[in-house]
Amino acid sequence: MAITKRTFDVVIIGAGGAGMRAALQLSEAGLKVAVLSKVFPTRSHTVSAQGGIAASLGNVTEDNWHWHMYDTVKGSDYLGDQDAIEFMCRQANEVVYELEHFGMPFDRLENGKIYQRPFGGQSQNFGGAQATRSCASADRTGHALLHTLYQRNVSANTQFFIEWMGLDLIRDEQGDVLGITALEMETGEVMIMQARATLFATGGAGRIFQASTNALINTGDGLGMAARADIPLEDMEFWQFHPTGVHGAGVLISEAVRGEGGYLLNQAGERFMERYAPNAKDLASRDVVSRAMTTEIKEGRGCGDDNDHLMLKLDHLGADIIKSRLPGIRELAMKFAHVDPIHHPIPVVPTAHYMMGGIPTNFYGQVVAPYKTGPEEIVSGFYAVGECACVSVHGANRLGTNSLLDLIVFGRAAALKIIDDLKAIPHHKPLAENAADKTLARLTRLEDKKNGESVAEVKNELSKTMQTYCGVFRFEDMLQQGVEKMKEVATRVDNTEIKDKSKVFNTARIEALELDNLKEVAMATIISAEARSESRGAHARDDFPQRDDDKWLKHTLYFSKNNRLDYKPVRLKPQTVESFPPKARTY
Ligand SMILES: Cc1cc2nc3c(=O)[nH]c(=O)nc-3n(C[C@H](O)[C@H](O)[C@H](O)COP(=O)(O)OP(=O)(O)OC[C@H]3O[C@@H](n4cnc5c(N)ncnc54)[C@H](O)[C@@H]3O)c2cc1C
Repeated sequence: MAITKRTFDVVIIGAGGAGMRAALQLSEAGLKVAVLSKVFPTRSHTVSAQGGIAASLGNVTEDNWHWHMYDTVKGSDYLGDQDAIEFMCRQANEVVYELEHFGMPFDRLENGKIYQRPFGGQSQNFGGAQATRSCASADRTGHALLHTLYQRNVSANTQFFIEWMGLDLIRDEQGDVLGITALEMETGEVMIMQARATLFATGGAGRIFQASTNALINTGDGLGMAARADIPLEDMEFWQFHPTGVHGAGVLISEAVRGEGGYLLNQAGERFMERYAPNAKDLASRDVVSRAMTTEIKEGRGCGDDNDHLMLKLDHLGADIIKSRLPGIRELAMKFAHVDPIHHPIPVVPTAHYMMGGIPTNFYGQVVAPYKTGPEEIVSGFYAVGECACVSVHGANRLGTNSLLDLIVFGRAAALKIIDDLKAIPHHKPLAENAADKTLARLTRLEDKKNGESVAEVKNELSKTMQTYCGVFRFEDMLQQGVEKMKEVATRVDNTEIKDKSKVFNTARIEALELDNLKEVAMATIISAEARSESRGAHARDDFPQRDDDKWLKHTLYFSKNNRLDYKPVRLKPQTVESFPPKARTY
């Protein structure tokens, strides 16, 4: 089969905040940049970020980057790499002002400065009083961010491939990355996109769980593509469950609600977070609040007929604050929970939200993996940023509003690195005849398969298995059974058949191809979780309730081939300041 080939300086998969921030820098530098997205760029999941973006501007309360760094290290339960965290927190103010100058419509204080609100895990003076660090555009910060970046990219001549799906990574015999194969979703046309630099910004993979705040397209495609091309996945056992997803719907109710003064109640009307986190209360770190909620439910203090959720109260904030600061939240509550929060509390449960792990990179966005000679080498031509990457700045638990910051800081940093690196790679490296063979084999298998299982059924089984066996609390026997079950599901994934082969937008084909990626992410998650016999951040083991720094202060690396695990040390040494040594984490 003859395949069209196109060449670019840089190919970026993903038009969320991370992909578009990088694309903007690259296009403005005069490079020929292609950006692929499964959906229209401004529909990427970044659009639904509500709460804000962290930066120590100090517009409301005194603040500085070093306090922000401390909170991020502590929030990560000391698994974050401190050199990368310093890099991110130091750059936060600059990248936020840059966004402001790009035209991003931040809310304003009376004095005209950018509005900031408190968020969980943010403190002043290394663990002191609550800090006010989240820069926001009402409860639609991601929306404002994405539209601003899209407009700037259009004017910078970034070339968008909309409703194109990246399928596989192309590597040469040395392991250098030369581009990708991709599919036009409407027509089914397959194309090779050859590039001097390939950047993954494919976002999260929350869809491995049944109840998730993530968009349907968040299927971990970048991780699947990397794993199939022998790149390991880092720290995949760490998934953040957001405390407040709408009960039954999974839709996110932002932490901004608690930042503005809302709080959680149990069946008895008790503000139970006062017992679990006497200082930070409802604004303790997300893993802490989610575990407290799960404990309340488990011990019979949940609300409703089935005692299976809790209540988020905000009516005391008053109609004016709710309408001006949280208009989107009110809309979501009315639409998905059928309550108007001006009068009634919102029923909520902890819901899968954010993937701390991902494709291993350094803080220039360069992918670092076992390669030609050593275990930790920069893979030539390959970069990753945003939620699909593991830098790692979030370690075992991300703080709210640090993800949007991560997208912008590392999106820009990776682009600057690429601009520099391409000076040494003036020409495209030669592409082998068989560069697209792996992709064609996948497509042919799907096309030819007879009497296989339905994609939807197997996908359902996958997300049910992950939800049941690898949720907020993890148990030894459940994890062991879960690994066995997931291995079965993985075999079934390879035996699926597209039941509806109609050509209409190729939906059935897309879902089957996505399932290959969900499989890699789910396997990496549950196998890494089963092995880690400690509790740290979002990974809470019933049988090992304590953090074990002697044994486990290290990053996990999962290799898809043979489901192998390896480990690498945490980078405890920051760039310029003293290290924050691990200590007990209380809020
Ligand atoms: C409901 C919700 C609210 C949130 N609120 C906040 C918040 O207030 N503050 C904060 O800091 N963080 C928040 N987060 C987290 C944060 O929004 C995300 O981590 C972040 O937006 C991810 O951005 P990204 O650029 O990495 O990916 P995304 O924005 O998810 O974009 C991924 C892109 O990749 C494309 N893509 C994926 N696979 C393929 C493929 N195979 N081929 C082609 N294109 C592909 C998609 O089409 C999309 O364009 C929130 C997350 C959710 C789910």
